[in-house]
Amino acid sequence: MIDLRSDTVTLPTAAMRQAMMMAEVGDDVYGEDPTVRRLEERAAAFLGKEAALFVPSGTMGNQIAIACHTRPGQEVIVEADSHIYNVELATMARFSGVQPRVLVGERGIFTAHQVSSAIRPDIYYLAPTGLVCLENTHNGAGGRIWPLAGAREILDLAHGRGIPVHLDGARVFNAAVATGIPARELVAGFDSVMFCLSKGLGCPVGSILCGPREFIAEARRARKALGGGMRQAGILAAAGLYALDHHVDRLAEDQAHARLLAAGLSEIEGLSVWPPETNIVIFEIERGPDAATLCRGLAARGVLASPAGAGTSPRRVRMVTHLGVSRPDIERTLDLVARELGTAAA
Ligand SMILES: *Cc1c(COP(=O)(O)O)cnc(C)c1O
Repeated sequence: MIDLRSDTVTLPTAAMRQAMMMAEVGDDVYGEDPTVRRLEERAAAFLGKEAALFVPSGTMGNQIAIACHTRPGQEVIVEADSHIYNVELATMARFSGVQPRVLVGERGIFTAHQVSSAIRPDIYYLAPTGLVCLENTHNGAGGRIWPLAGAREILDLAHGRGIPVHLDGARVFNAAVATGIPARELVAGFDSVMFCLSKGLGCPVGSILCGPREFIAEARRARKALGGGMRQAGILAAAGLYALDHHVDRLAEDQAHARLLAAGLSEIEGLSVWPPETNIVIFEIERGPDAATLCRGLAARGVLASPAGAGTSPRRVRMVTHLGVSRPDIERTLDLVARELGTAAA
């Protein structure tokens, strides 16, 4: 099987498993796991933040950030196709008592001007804006990179109004590798940043939340409240340390594969392909079966892809490249998509 559904399907390599096996561990709820501490220190230093917290998932990292930045009764500015708004089960309402204020970006990216119009004026019957969230890369928009200049304008604007800004940086290292801008520069100025170890970085489990020291101390309490306190988690943290050493630069390979895939798909009749900026390729089937039917047909031929568009765009398909996908896999995928659509391979 060639599995292009997501970069979450990556399996730990033999060397990563070796690092996990050898990890020195302790009870992290007591603050006694040396490998978790090393990962948290390493991740914070890597992103130029004061402190970091190892969390079980990206969703938990985002939601802890929202809980720690806001008070119940506030609004959180999010993009319409963002992960936080679409696929985190309204957790900001359940856990933090806040409501989303949704902005529709241009293919996922909103402007400082839009944020400025969405920030509530200080009138007693309006819900105050408590937080702004950006997503880099933007998953629903096909792995788009949030332009740095635009992000900085939003940071300046929000901070000028006393509002913190959180970055859902699940794939921020993909953005760093694609642009050549170090991740620490891409996240500079954000009040908190979450990134996933369990996606393109190839770890089995885990994400990191970074921010100021007191913020992370509060985040540690919120993590425990959510049931995210883990014991001998150093076994998982060892995979994270290994990934930060060995799996960041290689994301360039995944991105080259995504470009190859997109170029090949765009030569197939009836497909309209979004130009990929990182490791996510999205295409619309303009003529032919709907996305679910195409994905079922491809699965029978040995290629897994996902219908995309969170249920609202039934002709949209997503393919994600990662460390388990080789160049021959891409070539084979192109051949099978062309066959499945009954057109000649280009
Ligand atoms: C995957 C993802 C998350 C959540 O990560 P999980 O570990 O699956 O909870 C958050 N934001 C974005 C943009 C993602 O792609």
